[in-house]
Amino acid sequence: MEFRLSEEQAALRESVRDFATEVVAPVIGDCYEREEFPYPVVKRMGEMGLFGLPFPEEYGGMGGDYFALCLALEELARVDSSVAITLEAGVSLGAMPIYRFGTEEQKRRWLPRLCRGEALAGFGLTEPGGGSDAGATRTRAELDGDSWVINGSKSFITNSGTDITDFVTVTAVTGRRADGRPEISSILVPSGTNGFTVGPKYSKVGWCASDTHELSFVDCRVPAANLVGERGRGYAQFLRILDEGRIAIAALSVGLAQGCVDESVKYAKQRSAFGHEIGAYQAIQFKIADMKLRAHTARLAYYDAAARMLAGEDFKTEAAIAKLYASESAVTNAREATQIHGGYGFMNEFPVARMWRDAKILEIGEGTSEVQRLLIARDLGL
Ligand SMILES: Cc1cc2nc3c(=O)[nH]c(=O)nc-3n(C[C@H](O)[C@H](O)[C@H](O)COP(=O)(O)OP(=O)(O)OC[C@H]3O[C@@H](n4cnc5c(N)ncnc54)[C@H](O)[C@@H]3O)c2cc1C
Repeated sequence: MEFRLSEEQAALRESVRDFATEVVAPVIGDCYEREEFPYPVVKRMGEMGLFGLPFPEEYGGMGGDYFALCLALEELARVDSSVAITLEAGVSLGAMPIYRFGTEEQKRRWLPRLCRGEALAGFGLTEPGGGSDAGATRTRAELDGDSWVINGSKSFITNSGTDITDFVTVTAVTGRRADGRPEISSILVPSGTNGFTVGPKYSKVGWCASDTHELSFVDCRVPAANLVGERGRGYAQFLRILDEGRIAIAALSVGLAQGCVDESVKYAKQRSAFGHEIGAYQAIQFKIADMKLRAHTARLAYYDAAARMLAGEDFKTEAAIAKLYASESAVTNAREATQIHGGYGFMNEFPVARMWRDAKILEIGEGTSEVQRLLIARDLGL
């Protein structure tokens, strides 16, 4: 059992930490307020190779692994979550389904631009009628000659409407299985395809500098060859993608939880009340000690889940534990950090205000806390 980072991993963590502090921190507050997607920052992340971290060099990647991606996500989210979720969704939801399940031709065609961060892709699973019950997909795709004809809609799809979005992969019902249940498949829809409309961006509570849209498909025709993976395997595929994605969201949550510690320590040493720095009061010290405890424990949980995944072991339950604990820790830490900042914590110019707004979605996206508890209980035979 070894939870120490290798030299290479530590160097990656340092370089992303420097990037987050020197490049992201100075500009992200303004982008957030204006609800603007931070194109120049994303371009720099692409140049650093962050979007290609877990992919082989033959597809334009950096030849690293999923844990390297998690380390980068943690360091970005320590400063800002909009940028971190853009990377998380770009890699784990956008590129990964193509890498894991796509044909050789699809990988060669789509992955190099995604790995360089020149393009982004989205993953459309959630629908207006529900996200947790993903098997209840209503979007349909029918094979008509050499084309799939898609009808339906998807909600809350990250990275789906940027100027550099190349495609979205959507799940759709493509028929009935022998047992009567719907057959679900994944299909790649390039941006700009007739019948594929990207709705206006949502007005969100948090992640305000990230890109999220509703998508609609009306008689949207794409080549039959745009099927991603085997026909009828879409459900199994997205479960695998979500299991991995939970480790990434856990890492992002740890970053936010740690960012709250950093900001609170700084503020507790600067702010005085009743003749002392507020950090001299045990009530404040204990809050920050508990915040550190949560961030540290959540980090160990995602390291463990990632180590199991990379060793080829079963990691589903550990990923659910890491995601659940880390996201709830992020929410608690954000609430406590805001409290420590008093009235200033409620002002958007302070990073903790942004962290407070960004934390809540972590308990919802890529499987709600209730869904994580269901998965853990199921593993216990309940
Ligand atoms: C900013 C943002 C970005 C997103 N990005 C993407 C994306 O890129 N791609 C994508 O496909 N989706 C995306 N989502 C969707 C997200 O994954 C879903 O919102 C989430 O899975 C929950 O689905 P829902 O919103 O439909 O809630 P519902 O499934 O309707 O759930 C509502 C409530 O009921 C609870 N619940 C449901 N079933 C049960 C049960 N069996 N037992 C107990 N409680 C239950 C839930 O936990 C929740 O509290 C994004 C969402 C947001 C807000």
